[in-house]
This record gives sequence, structure tokens and C-alpha cells, in this order.
Amino acid sequence: MKYCTKCKLDKPLSQFGKCKSKKDGHQQYCNACKLKYQQKNPNRKASVTKYREANKDICIFRSILSQQKNRAHYNMKAAEWQKANPEKVKATRARYDKKRQIQHRGLDAFSRFVFEEAKELVKLRNELTGVKWNIDHVIPISKGGTSEYTNIQVVPEVYNRHKATKLVQRYFLTTK
Ligand SMILES: [Zn+2]
Repeated sequence: MKYCTKCKLDKPLSQFGKCKSKKDGHQQYCNACKLKYQQKNPNRKASVTKYREANKDICIFRSILSQQKNRAHYNMKAAEWQKANPEKVKATRARYDKKRQIQHRGLDAFSRFVFEEAKELVKLRNELTGVKWNIDHVIPISKGGTSEYTNIQVVPEVYNRHKATKLVQRYFLTTK
């Protein structure tokens, strides 16, 4: 049973939607209360979307901050998982290497040179800043981007993770 703080009733857990961030894995309000709320506020979702659209920078910044705050925790979790799943780590790495080989096939010598340089820059910045850096494709590979030197940038890992394949954006504005 779980107490719904809205209707002030004890109801079976099955009447609460799932929510990973809550301690018991369920939402605060029961399904009936949630439905009532949604019917009363039909435009809620649209207004949230509108706010996010209008305040993109703030939202990105907030999300980066929260990721940074939780970084130590996630790093630890990831390390634990990697230790427990060495074959999977190996397989993922092999897949990644193959993908990169394909990406680099047909790449001109200068772009290959820039990529190697970027790898060194990642190492250097990791050491200098204590924050993890990644090589990023301005236009993601999945959106048809290549590893040519014009499409490569070195960015903080939090930014890269956040960006995933959603945003096409230069981290540093460059002059011509
Ligand atoms: Zn309720």
C-alpha cells in the first residue's frame, strides 16, 4: 500500500505510476489523481515544451550542472558494471573500433592528422582541467557527419553526453 498525498488515501502500489527517481519506484500521486490533474490542466505538457523551447540555454545549463553533480556517482556505478561485465566491455570496444575504422576509411591525410591531434588534446585537457573531454562530431555521424577536420571538436564530456545526437551545435564558436 502507498499513501497518496493528493487524495489522502492508502491505495495498492499498482495504482501508482512508475517513477525511477522516487525511493519506492512509484509516483507521489495515484493514477486517479494524476488523471484528474491532467484533465484539469490539459495544456500542461504543451506549456512545459514551450518553456523548454524558449529557455533552451538555461535548460541545457541546468542539465549539465546536475550531471556534474552526479558524475562521481555514475562513474562509480559504471566502473562497477564494467568490472562485472568484462566480455561486454570488450565487445563494445571492438564495435567502437570497427565503427571508427569505417569512419576513417577514405578520410584525407590532413583530417586523419587532425583526429590524432584531437586525441592528444583530449589527454592534455583531461590532465589540465580535471574534467573529462571527448572528441565530438559537430554534425553527428548518425546524421551523416564525417570525421573530416571541419567536423571535429574537443568538448567536455558532459556537453557531449548531453548533446547525444539531438543538437547540432558548435561548442566553441570559431572564427573563419
Ligand atoms: Zn490519489
